[in-house]
Amino acid sequence: MFYQKILKNFRKKDFCPFCNSNSEFRIIENESAYITLARAPYVKNHLLVIPKRHILSLNNLTGNEKKEIFDLMLSGIKLLEKKYPAVQMQYKEGDLISAGKTIPHAHFHLVPKRKKTKEIKDKRKFLREGELIKKVNEVKNF
Ligand SMILES: [Zn+2]
Repeated sequence: MFYQKILKNFRKKDFCPFCNSNSEFRIIENESAYITLARAPYVKNHLLVIPKRHILSLNNLTGNEKKEIFDLMLSGIKLLEKKYPAVQMQYKEGDLISAGKTIPHAHFHLVPKRKKTKEIKDKRKFLREGELIKKVNEVKNF
């Protein structure tokens, strides 16, 4: 079944798949969070780290939740590193539409990366010291 159709159905019923996840889907868990396989994976063995409490933003986490979620992320990375040479973490913060979230419940993606044989050419600019200081001050005054 297609993910977009499933999402539409979740929204219509105001159903949160992360709050209602089957405990058999959980790979590792602690008091505050659990790790599961993504049901709409970007790649094979794509994991999600999901807080157990229904929150949209990380700003709503307690100190203990922050610690336990971070612990689980490290456990998830360790697990994937048994099989993959690298893991990419992804997280979207902000409101549902602006952040491009599909589920209104904060979660982290742990995306396994396969072995690459060629170095990727990086075309980013490198800021001079003066430019960097100017931009640091811009950000401080947001
Ligand atoms: Zn939820």
